[in-house]
Amino acid sequence: MEEKTLNFLEEIIEADLASGKCKTIKTRFPPEPNGYLHIGHAKSICLNFGLAQKYGGTTNLRFDDTNPVKEDTEYVDSIKEDIQWLGFQWANEFYASDYFDQLYEWAEVLIKKGLAYVDDQSQEEIRQNRGTVSQPGVESPWRNRSVEENLDLFRRMKAGEFPDGSRVLRAKIDMAHPNMLFRDPLMYRIIHADHHRTGSKWCIYPMYDYAHGESDSIENITHSICTLEFDVHRPLYDWFIEKLGIFPSHQYEFARLNLTHTVMSKRKMLELVKNGYVDGWDDPRMPTICGLRRRGYTPESIRAFAEKVGVAKRDNIIDLSLLEWCVRDDLNRRANRYMAVIDPVKLVIDNWKEGEVEWFNAPLNPESPDGPFRRVPFTKEMYIERADFMEEAPKKYFRLKPDGEVRLKYTYIVKCVSYQKDAEGRITEIHCTYDPTSKPGAGEWRSVKGTIHWASATHSEKITVNLFDRLFTEEKMGELPEGVDYKEYLNPESLVVKENCYAEPDLLKDTSGIAVQFERLGYFFKDSKNGGYNKVTGLKDTFKL
Ligand code: ATP
Ligand code: MG
Repeated sequence: MEEKTLNFLEEIIEADLASGKCKTIKTRFPPEPNGYLHIGHAKSICLNFGLAQKYGGTTNLRFDDTNPVKEDTEYVDSIKEDIQWLGFQWANEFYASDYFDQLYEWAEVLIKKGLAYVDDQSQEEIRQNRGTVSQPGVESPWRNRSVEENLDLFRRMKAGEFPDGSRVLRAKIDMAHPNMLFRDPLMYRIIHADHHRTGSKWCIYPMYDYAHGESDSIENITHSICTLEFDVHRPLYDWFIEKLGIFPSHQYEFARLNLTHTVMSKRKMLELVKNGYVDGWDDPRMPTICGLRRRGYTPESIRAFAEKVGVAKRDNIIDLSLLEWCVRDDLNRRANRYMAVIDPVKLVIDNWKEGEVEWFNAPLNPESPDGPFRRVPFTKEMYIERADFMEEAPKKYFRLKPDGEVRLKYTYIVKCVSYQKDAEGRITEIHCTYDPTSKPGAGEWRSVKGTIHWASATHSEKITVNLFDRLFTEEKMGELPEGVDYKEYLNPESLVVKENCYAEPDLLKDTSGIAVQFERLGYFFKDSKNGGYNKVTGLKDTFKL
């Protein structure tokens, strides 16, 4: 058996458990409730919950709700739904805002230790005085206030005495530090805004760098996993924890997931939603978890995708077709099969009795050819796919052609005897005769090269099919030239709605709850909003494993 190698996080965890550095592991998933989760978050969820599961630990869900202006309970609810749908359950549901009192107390501790001060400079002055990578910053004129004055001002900030932007609390570290984040980073700012949980209680709110590590520490998180761009923040994360002498959580970084033909920034996704480029956060073309769910992706396929992508320490971009491969692989095993015709042309069986119906058994899944079955009705008038008939066909064309034979899947062999066209030369009707001796299971099996799917014209269900293509035409949406609007790359053909499609009647009785296969066409899932059948993906691989 092939030995599975550990990824770098598993190596760290196993070493920590072996050395006794920690007895059990605790991770957390810390979304900011300012948008819907996307496939990148799914990667992070699978990682955090997956590691805890593997090593017998637990995972907290912590809403990182330190910015009152952008956050909303609508997002909180959707995030919880999405995580559970992916198949994970958190040990505790926490909110960074639960810790506002504790964080405030610790800020006073740092002030008393002479490690934090109230700065009256404007945002602009603070920015200008930070210096550059090659030049040290300039110390604030307020940097050496007494502890008493700092405490008094900070308490009055909290009491709401000062307007937004007039003062901030900063850590007192080193204005010449080579890591710019150490140049007296902001800890608190004044925002007179209601918070979705704490209401009007607070008008000062902690900054990410101050709140995040402290929140991890309060929850005794052992392995705080985040994306690579936070690696420069790690020393600051450690600094606060060390100065406060609290539980030593540690931060580890992995590469964020990027996908081709996709934008995943919340700002851009929100813009697509707000301006109606897509039909909401759960538009089946969106990379959001709710969009993938509405499209017909399964949780199993997304977890398999996260596993296949692995954890890297270098940023890279993953081909969207790998995600499609994963859902195809899952549905190929599990999806029930049905026949549907999405670009129909009429086919009449001349030697079939008007009004007569013959029912055939067809397996719901070819992996189990002996059933369970669905029942397909063979009738005089049928529909086949327009592309399955060719007037002047090349030699190797094995579907229907004049005088040619083809099997209508699960049933008889039919032979094309004539056809009609309209003024534009478009085929309007094909006439065939069927061969009664070609019935499957009846005597000798006669084979023909082509087998096509079909639907009865009189005994089928009319359905609508939503065909999707990539939302963006450009592969590397994250690498567009400066000044180019990403919306210019929206694919105008990313959605094609096909009305008047026909499907075998048992499709509507399907109770599997997952996508089905339309034979020869791909996987389709009934849209929860418009009732059409969303094409999840085609049958053919475009990805080479
Ligand atoms: P945005 O920058 O678009 O607002 P975000 O990364 O800030 O998104 P959060 O809600 O803060 O979104 O993310 C929650 C967690 O998910 C974080 O730990 C973050 O590192 C992780 N995450 C976000 N995007 C990705 C991604 N593309 N790949 C892997 N992990 C991600
Ligand atoms: Mg964030």
